[in-house]
Amino acid sequence: MSKYQLKVNNIIEEIKNINAHSVGLQFPEGLKVYATSVARRIEDETGADVIISGDPSFGACDVSDASMKGMVDLLVHFGHSPLPLEYDVHMLFVEAQFQLDVIPAIKEALNLLENYKIIGLVTTTQHLHILEEAADFLEHEGKTVIMKQGQGTRKAQVLGCNFSAVEELPVDVFLYVGSGNFHPLGIKLSTHKPVIIADPYRNEARNIDKFADRILRIRFARITKAREAKRFGIIVSSKKGQLRMELAKNLKSMIHKEGKEAYIILMDHISPELLIPFMDLDAFLVTACPRIAIDDANMYKKPLLTPEELLIVLDTKRWEDYKLDEIKYVKINQ
Ligand code: SF4
Repeated sequence: MSKYQLKVNNIIEEIKNINAHSVGLQFPEGLKVYATSVARRIEDETGADVIISGDPSFGACDVSDASMKGMVDLLVHFGHSPLPLEYDVHMLFVEAQFQLDVIPAIKEALNLLENYKIIGLVTTTQHLHILEEAADFLEHEGKTVIMKQGQGTRKAQVLGCNFSAVEELPVDVFLYVGSGNFHPLGIKLSTHKPVIIADPYRNEARNIDKFADRILRIRFARITKAREAKRFGIIVSSKKGQLRMELAKNLKSMIHKEGKEAYIILMDHISPELLIPFMDLDAFLVTACPRIAIDDANMYKKPLLTPEELLIVLDTKRWEDYKLDEIKYVKINQ
């Protein structure tokens, strides 16, 4: 039995409402194991044909609407909330919230929060439904909790490429509810405020500082190496929600002004193997998902930089002002 709320009843209702004969299903990797059981229920209860997307899906920036256009009347995307993008087919987003008890992890975090009064509470899509309970508990403990809606995100929601929900929040500390380190790192670098993680999967709490120091050391080394580069590859994603061609062109002309070479490379999926033919280039800039350059740094032989990091390489930005790259989903398809 899944601990995720896959809301199959709502999906069936929508299929009947719009009289869909063919339905696409798209899951992130962790939820793909439920694909066939969801498909079977839909086919049994509605008579619609189901097509399951087998491609990787990392976010609502990466929806298979273009590839399923003309094949399905409805595409159900699991695990992410919608972004302000125009999708090519009728969409239903199912956030697939995970059922868990947040309070033990918040209790663990209280020790680390004892010197702070005003807390910015923040999380990702999968845990938004448990934040109110966390906020009530903290307020009962005498804290003041603040949550803000981001630009293109919901209240208290951050994405790996969008930290607008924490910008300029007048808080003493941020409390991130979730398991990974990447989002808390982005919050730390965006705000320069302390960030505590309350992990409801392990019922533990920790500070992000050690992880942030390690990542910053790695980024500094990559930036230093890229200063020697004479030829750059600028990777642009063909995924609708990651496509930043205008930014790539601007970066290319900045590099040219320095008397260096730059080439724009359009790719759907980015991997070390797919960059092998381009090993005559000295460094790569990734204008696609900002996580690629940071999370996958060790997989690549040549430095992979974010657009923000190129500014430091070109001395138009100071290392002290380092931030993660962000996609704010406002003029994304320029
Ligand atoms: S671009 Fe990356 S971080 Fe942003 S929503 Fe897509 S997968 Fe997530």
